[in-house]
Amino acid sequence: MARDDERAADSPKPGITETLKQGLHLGRAIRLVWAISPGWAIMNIVLVVVQGLLPLLAPYFMKRTIDALQAVIAVHAGLAAFRPVLFWVVLAAAAALLAALLGSLAGLAGQYQSMIFSDKVTDIVHSQSVAVDLEYYENPSYYDTMQRAQVEAASRPIGVVNRLVGIGRNAVSLVGVAGLLLAFSPLVALVLFCVALPGALVQSVYARRQYRLELEQTEKDRQASYYHFMLTGTWFAKELRLFNLGSLFRTRFQTLRQQLRGVRLALSRRRTIAGLLAQSLTSAAIFGSLAFIAYQAYKGTVTLGSLVMYYSIFQLAVGAFSSVLAGVAGLYEDNLFLANFYKFMDLKPKVRAPANPAPAPTKISRGIEFQDVHFTYPSDSRKVLEAVNLSIAPGQVIALVGANGSGKTTLVKLLCRLYDPDLGRITIDGTDIRCLDPVEWRRTVSVILQDYVQYGMTAWENIWLGDVESEPDRGRITRAAELSGADSAIRRLPQGYDTPLGYQFKRGRELSIGEWQKVALARAFLRDSELVVLDEPTSSLDPLAEAEVFEHFRRVIQGRSAVLVSHRFSTVKMADYIYVLDHGRVAESGTHRELFARGGLYARLYSAQAARYQET
Ligand code: ADP
Repeated sequence: MARDDERAADSPKPGITETLKQGLHLGRAIRLVWAISPGWAIMNIVLVVVQGLLPLLAPYFMKRTIDALQAVIAVHAGLAAFRPVLFWVVLAAAAALLAALLGSLAGLAGQYQSMIFSDKVTDIVHSQSVAVDLEYYENPSYYDTMQRAQVEAASRPIGVVNRLVGIGRNAVSLVGVAGLLLAFSPLVALVLFCVALPGALVQSVYARRQYRLELEQTEKDRQASYYHFMLTGTWFAKELRLFNLGSLFRTRFQTLRQQLRGVRLALSRRRTIAGLLAQSLTSAAIFGSLAFIAYQAYKGTVTLGSLVMYYSIFQLAVGAFSSVLAGVAGLYEDNLFLANFYKFMDLKPKVRAPANPAPAPTKISRGIEFQDVHFTYPSDSRKVLEAVNLSIAPGQVIALVGANGSGKTTLVKLLCRLYDPDLGRITIDGTDIRCLDPVEWRRTVSVILQDYVQYGMTAWENIWLGDVESEPDRGRITRAAELSGADSAIRRLPQGYDTPLGYQFKRGRELSIGEWQKVALARAFLRDSELVVLDEPTSSLDPLAEAEVFEHFRRVIQGRSAVLVSHRFSTVKMADYIYVLDHGRVAESGTHRELFARGGLYARLYSAQAARYQET
């Protein structure tokens, strides 16, 4: 699928269906803008019509002013005869004032609409980001799609509307001037409209080039952002200093930005030159027409006032026509970019609820089983799990052991339905977990993965996030923290459970890695789930803290099932049953005693660790 996307993105010319589909993006964008703020949309339409007609008044008032002035001068009348001139000047001023007022009003309305829209669309993007499968975050080409969508989302649909507003305004002006021009000279009208065409062509050609360039540069853009993120993010601050990575990352960032700047500026240069050539043609036509009308004035066919009026109208006509054409070309560009946005919005999660999901169990009665499970990550061709069979009985604590990369975390991810197996099935009391709503199923499981999150929130919130569907109950939160051993560390903080953790926000306090891990464990313990899954739960805990957690562990899980992934045999030993994974397969299984007695892989791993302790 990822490769299909890349192919679609790279295909040089879209086919008819593709073009039609792209056409739909504009319609969708307009509907979206309308749905989000219909009031502002109506306001925009009204302003468009009025703003489109107003520019026509200025040349007319100018003509009347000059003609009136000429008449006054011709008859050498007194100052009282100057009144009609003043009248037209006042009208011209009033029209200019009204245009300025409407312009400001339109600007303000635009700002209101954009801000409301951008926040709302960002919310829509957030909701889609949460809904898509985990695999989208683990695949660079989807990451690109997501990045483009996020960049485009906040501004592009409203840009479409603004462009349509511009096209509308100019089209209204155009209809007005076209009537006047055709009445004056159809030939002049034709010439003026023809010279606006090259400009529009330049716009549309460069719109396509710009789009392709942005598409090609997304990965590089992301790389540059990544270096920026590392140079400025808290997570990297320590290692950046310890390994003195600052200047290396700065150089890399600068190099990438320089490359990006280079290609973008080169395109801008070419676009400017082509635009300038088209513009020169337009100017030549305007001034040619001016010469023509000046000649008419010289012959006395038209008045001086008409000369000024027509000159303004020529400019207005060419300006409005090129704006309409440029607007249409811009819409084409918007449409290309919107395709990215909607490509992301149309992603359908593969891991989703069936039409009629089976109810998630409130109590596991027969157990969980992996039946001949095979799995390959979508971005890779290597089999990560192969014919895995294992079972977790109600109330049983099982441990997964194996070398790095043997597939333990992947197995946990499948168990939590972050992915679905390619072959085989995972059942709960005989029901395939794919028949359940994944959200419901995940509610019955408490999981802490080894790359758990350190939330920049208060201590109590960090624990409550394990069960946000229940009201925050300080008593339950404290109990969970006591069970994981986090309570004493939290109580030592200046504001106890109300202390923000980490240094992101004011009055925040940092915890040690082990203390963070205890907080994460408390998060898992808080939820009243049927299955507790802990991936490397005690890797950062000192031996005493670990002993304490597992002393409580049976009490914590209170007859629930648990899966422990650990390299520490002190943790593994307390499991009821152990599965040893080797290159994605279950190599051995049994109790600690059985496996140790067998003298296989488990016994070797165990002895290697024990020997290290004995030596020291
Ligand atoms: P373990 O938890 O036993 O250390 P994992 O289950 O994390 O092992 O990984 C098993 C194998 O799958 C490894 O070879 C790893 O490189 C690969 N792998 C893990 N996550 C991904 C991923 N998101 N995409 C592709 N391959 C992955």
